Amino acid sequence: PAPASSNFLRGIIETDLTAGSYADRKDSQGQPLPPVVTRFPPEPNGYLHIGHAKSICVNFGLARDYAGRCHLRFDDTNPEKEEQEYVDTIIDSVRWLGFDWKDNTGEHLYFASNYFDKLYEMAEYLITAGLAYVDSQSAEQMAANRGNFGEVGKNSPFRDRPAAESLDLFRRMKAGEFKDGEHIVRAKIDMASPNMNLRDPAIYRIRHAHHHRTGDKWCIYPMYDYTHPISDALENISHSICTLEFQDHRPFYDWVLEHLSAAGFLQKPVPHQYEFSRLNVTYVITSKRKLRQLVDEGIVDGWDDPRMSTLVGIRRRGFTPESLQLFCERTGVTKSDGWIDMSSLEGALREDLDPKAPRANAVLRPLKLVIDNFPEGETVDCQAPVYPPAHPEHATALRHFPISKTLWIEQEDFMETPVKGYFRLFPPSADKAGSRVRLRHGYVIECTGFEKDADGKVTAVHCTYFPDSKSGTEGSANYKVKGNIHWVSAAHALEAEVRLYDRLFTDPHPDAGGKDFKAALNPNAKEVITAYLEPSLKDAKPEDRYQFERHGYFVADRVDSKPGKPVFNRTVTLKDSWVK
Ligand code: ATP
Ligand code: MG
Ligand code: MG
Repeated sequence: PAPASSNFLRGIIETDLTAGSYADRKDSQGQPLPPVVTRFPPEPNGYLHIGHAKSICVNFGLARDYAGRCHLRFDDTNPEKEEQEYVDTIIDSVRWLGFDWKDNTGEHLYFASNYFDKLYEMAEYLITAGLAYVDSQSAEQMAANRGNFGEVGKNSPFRDRPAAESLDLFRRMKAGEFKDGEHIVRAKIDMASPNMNLRDPAIYRIRHAHHHRTGDKWCIYPMYDYTHPISDALENISHSICTLEFQDHRPFYDWVLEHLSAAGFLQKPVPHQYEFSRLNVTYVITSKRKLRQLVDEGIVDGWDDPRMSTLVGIRRRGFTPESLQLFCERTGVTKSDGWIDMSSLEGALREDLDPKAPRANAVLRPLKLVIDNFPEGETVDCQAPVYPPAHPEHATALRHFPISKTLWIEQEDFMETPVKGYFRLFPPSADKAGSRVRLRHGYVIECTGFEKDADGKVTAVHCTYFPDSKSGTEGSANYKVKGNIHWVSAAHALEAEVRLYDRLFTDPHPDAGGKDFKAALNPNAKEVITAYLEPSLKDAKPEDRYQFERHGYFVADRVDSKPGKPVFNRTVTLKDSWVK
């Protein structure tokens, strides 16, 4: 793996390791705890996207690099929006990215809903201790009394009701005696705080809703800001890392931990929250609501459409877990917001695949090439390295494919009237001979003519070949040509569906400043073609990746490929322009 670059989170962890801040801890079973315990805490209310990959790589990466461990915890406190389907896809995506929550002490997969009993017990304690109360204002009154930023809020008329009365109400809330919204439990902090999150934040609310794990056991649910610090502490998290928008929530995070650890509910030292800036990638949207809109309105073909920024989409598009890890490492961890260009994600993929993707020939826009002096019905075996010679670890592997009289070449590799500097195929004219090019890994040919249909479309190109020019033979050195084109034998080619994907949006910031992101949709983000491929690609298995020479990186679609009948997705083009 790439050497770990330094960042402020590593600095904090290294300082804590030196100071022994989280040394010599034991869990509730008396098992020793590592000095670095992080967690990735998704809410199971949708599919993970590229931004989550960043958080996963940061949290699991720090645990890996400092011999700690990282928990996968579902923050499932919003029963209406959460589903088992999302739990399953999130688990799959984290695994696919290459991370694991198992270590020699067991599986560290957790659910906030497993803590509902404890969360409830702690809330009763806070009420009893006069640190929380049941508020019975309407939602409107509560919002009005909370006040705006810059002015002070007003205390609720219920703020000073006796603890015993609040406790009784809380128990009746739990017993289901009230409707949603009739009462709420709030921490008693400071209605005049300049930090709005400290103006008596809600900690429990009534929701008569079925929960995907606890069923109908509860009709009250803890709030995220209350649940999160407690879950972290119960799991002995040391460094609780989140994105910058939670900075203003940290004082409440600390408030909860301070009071509950002082009362002996939670072990000390308590976790600390640290914030870093979220990952924003150009040409991508990550808002769950907007992603859902793309799916629901049929703009894309589902959550795993290869144009989507979801991890299931990115995977299906052909990105590798290694390329995402490399990308996340390179984009660093900072406290300043910014945009990362999509090209750096694409660059990471090319870098990852260049040494390890087998090469293959694929003709995407076919044009017939007839070698007039090649014997009818004959074939000659050609061979080429599976991997480029720049990667000698694979240098010996060879692939074989036949050449015959009729081939498919790319339409772009022929010009009836060549422009200046065009070294590929063009026919003889009054002042110029027909061009000579090498058929890669085959013979040198000379263009002799072409055919057109009634509409003026070129339907075939004719040439002659030089039998002593075959690549890898002695005679080949006698032919110096500037053009070098790929091809497949028409009679042997594998006809396959290929999907040419491009960026989903034409605007680098499709939804910035409240813009209508649908106005920036790229109409050419998906094109389905029938291509002619090197015959051996018939055996490609789902998720096998190749470099189609001169075209880019392609993956056999993991859903639609069938044995003997792969379907390919273009992941990215080659950075290099076409080889002349
Ligand atoms: P929402 O709150 O809209 O449901 P979310 O993106 O916050 O969406 P969570 O499931 O709460 O979703 O996210 C899990 C973790 O991933 C959080 O710690 C969050 O900070 C982190 N995360 C989400 N988006 C990004 C991003 N773009 N860059 C880095 N981390 C992110
Ligand atoms: Mg989320
Ligand atoms: Mg969230």
